[in-house]
Amino acid sequence: MLSKNLISEFEALLGKEHVLTEEADRQSYSYDAAVLDTIVPALVLQPTTSEQLGQVVKKCYDAGLQITVRGAGTNLSGGTIPDSTESVVILTNKLNKILEINEEDLYAVVEPGVITAHFAAQAAAKNLFYPPDPGSQSVSTLGGNIAENAGGLRGLKYGVTKDYVMGMEFYDYEGELVKTGSRTVKCVTGYNLAGMMIGSEGTLGVISKAILKLIPPPKASKAMMAIFDDVQKASEAVASIIAAHIVPCTLEFLDNATIRLVEEDKKCGLPKDAEALLLIEVDGHPVQVAEEAETVEKILKQVGSRQIVVAQNEEEKNKIWTARRGALPALARLRPTCVLEDATVPRSKIPAMVKALNEIAKKYKLEMGTFGHAGDGNLHPTILCDRRNKEEFKRVEEAVDEIFNVALALGGTLSGEHGVGTAKAQWLEKETSRGTIMFSRRMRKAIDPKGLFNTSKMVGV
Ligand SMILES: Cc1cc2nc3c(=O)[nH]c(=O)nc-3n(C[C@H](O)[C@H](O)[C@H](O)COP(=O)(O)OP(=O)(O)OC[C@H]3O[C@@H](n4cnc5c(N)ncnc54)[C@H](O)[C@@H]3O)c2cc1C
Repeated sequence: MLSKNLISEFEALLGKEHVLTEEADRQSYSYDAAVLDTIVPALVLQPTTSEQLGQVVKKCYDAGLQITVRGAGTNLSGGTIPDSTESVVILTNKLNKILEINEEDLYAVVEPGVITAHFAAQAAAKNLFYPPDPGSQSVSTLGGNIAENAGGLRGLKYGVTKDYVMGMEFYDYEGELVKTGSRTVKCVTGYNLAGMMIGSEGTLGVISKAILKLIPPPKASKAMMAIFDDVQKASEAVASIIAAHIVPCTLEFLDNATIRLVEEDKKCGLPKDAEALLLIEVDGHPVQVAEEAETVEKILKQVGSRQIVVAQNEEEKNKIWTARRGALPALARLRPTCVLEDATVPRSKIPAMVKALNEIAKKYKLEMGTFGHAGDGNLHPTILCDRRNKEEFKRVEEAVDEIFNVALALGGTLSGEHGVGTAKAQWLEKETSRGTIMFSRRMRKAIDPKGLFNTSKMVGV
């Protein structure tokens, strides 16, 4: 239980300014980017050193307090909404040091609260490349990225966060520091505990440090936009590009509803009558980029793209990416609530998924736009609504249920990048199996015997 004595102990350990007890402060940590009910925690703690973090975890655990670790709170699955009003939220935003960027051995050592884009920029300043680029990168933290195994626009060619974690340190429930992985390219010493922690959504322990892989940046890139009158053709183009053994660093899709809304918002010259847009960027050595861009253009024409716009300079490239970056803001400004899903299907099933999404929107009389990573089948059907309208929101929930069912029936997954949290916990067994849930709970029990780390998230306890 949270006693006055314990609060005094936290104040002595962290300093009064890092122990937030006021209602107004605690309210600020009752929600995240998911459209879910809020829960106000009992206490918010803000350690400023790794040692403090370990001691805070131990004290909370010993006192039987539920622990929710929070980076920037941008997750879309309820992962940082406290489990109960007795919960303690531990913030990592003051653990924000880049401890090392090693230019010789191509790695960096970071604290969990470092902002993703800040880290990528610091690496770029040393002519190194950190590819994972979630749309939230200007605010999300590396700890949150690891705990959600975040992806981004470059996932198709460069992979996701897990592909860049060489090692890490985390605190277990006793406040013991666990070290796994190393600064070496190869390391098979002990269990792959880093693999276990990646995507664990704050349910197994608290990540306090990470060793991240960096790579040399591509020397050149070329971007283009292909306009289609038919979603099927856009999807065939994606398959044909990959079949030609070209892996673009980015291959994005916008449906007609999204195209119209982006154009109304940004006035960037998008064709409002197009059924689909593909936004493509290839990168690498200049010779390879020129060759690949030519082949991609040829394929797009063969498959039946109505028009292809190739960026001739940085300004034109930025214009193309404005369309993609503007997708979510353009959709979100229409209605008070924006439910952003990330059902993912095998690439070849994108036309079937887009068709089903349009039918679902019609069936439930909802406004929906779809955009996303066509290259890896990760679509973001985005439902625009008003959560205060109970009748409308019930239709939204039914539509979301149907979206997941269709994605699973097409051989897809509930979540390509947003995680499970509480938002998708109820569908997890449908995608996996009863055995998976029971096995995960047994594993969790061994690692978190009292069930206090983000109790209600993922498989529960
Ligand atoms: C506009 C927008 C765009 C987005 N675009 C993308 C995208 O392109 N790709 C993508 O993958 N996601 C995307 N997201 C989702 C989200 O930004 C990512 O999941 C991101 O990784 C969350 O980082 P965070 O710092 O906000 O973590 P938080 O939301 O604070 O936490 C996420 C989870 O990680 C746990 N956690 C945080 N820190 C630690 C730690 N140190 N140790 C253990 N557990 C921890 C939390 O308990 C929680 O369960 C987007 C979200 C928004 C709002």
